[in-house]
Amino acid sequence: MLKGRTALVTGSTSGIGLGIAEALAAEGANIQLNGFGDASEIERLRAEIEEKYGVTAAYSAADMSKPDEIRAMVGEAEARFGGVDILVNNAGIQHVSPVESFPDERWDAIIAINLSSNFHAIKAVLAGMRARGWGRVINVASAHGLVASAEKAAYVAAKHGAVGLTKVIALETGGSGITCNAICPGWVLTPLVEKQVQARADAAGTSFAAAKAAVLAEKTPSKDFATPAQIGGLAVFLCSPAADQITGTPLSIDGGWTAQ
Ligand code: NAD
Repeated sequence: MLKGRTALVTGSTSGIGLGIAEALAAEGANIQLNGFGDASEIERLRAEIEEKYGVTAAYSAADMSKPDEIRAMVGEAEARFGGVDILVNNAGIQHVSPVESFPDERWDAIIAINLSSNFHAIKAVLAGMRARGWGRVINVASAHGLVASAEKAAYVAAKHGAVGLTKVIALETGGSGITCNAICPGWVLTPLVEKQVQARADAAGTSFAAAKAAVLAEKTPSKDFATPAQIGGLAVFLCSPAADQITGTPLSIDGGWTAQ
């Protein structure tokens, strides 16, 4: 379905971003990977995507907290592939702490990586999408783009901001062949969440398995995690003709979390 298209997926060396990159590659899209990690492991992932799906995959180490590096990455992808047709703003970090002790530096980093990077990347890709008359912008927000949890001030503020930005971009691109939507996952068991589960296990003096069950019991009626592959499936749907008229919308994939 996506043969001949190019997808830039930020933060795709791990977790949800990697799941989305693989799902788009499975539909034939060329992939621009991005994110941090061990260089040889990233090269292994890149080569595996090319071999498994018969597409071209490139990698950029651009730091999503740096607007210049975001612009340079988009420029490189456009030069290499002839354009960015699908932009998935996925890179993200977390810090859990009450507001009074929340480090200023973590606030700034979360706003930069989880929110401002979306703005800078969208700004850089829109001209090309408009010229080609087709584009998909997918912002990976969160259930925390719709509702709050304590001790996640920066993350909740950034994700609500990403949902707001999604709506503005949809208004500004209406009728151009471009859509902009937000995917709002609940819990997905990635390295980002494993750290939080481990911290809760340590605090409560319980096992990782017990902390996992406790985390799910709190807010997730389905009592299960969504998988990166399922988030990838939703991203593929948003790139399909069936989704041509879906724009400006947060789509929950959260086991019922935000139905409460
Ligand atoms: P993860 O830690 O597995 O992956 C994060 C990715 O972002 C990695 O590739 C990492 O290298 C990259 N990254 C981090 N800082 C970066 C930077 N400055 N520049 C470039 N890349 C950077 O986390 P994940 O759970 O897969 O999270 C992906 C996205 O999904 C995030 O935006 C997160 O907020 C969102 N999300 C996750 C969950 C969940 O339960 N895991 C739920 C809702 C939303």
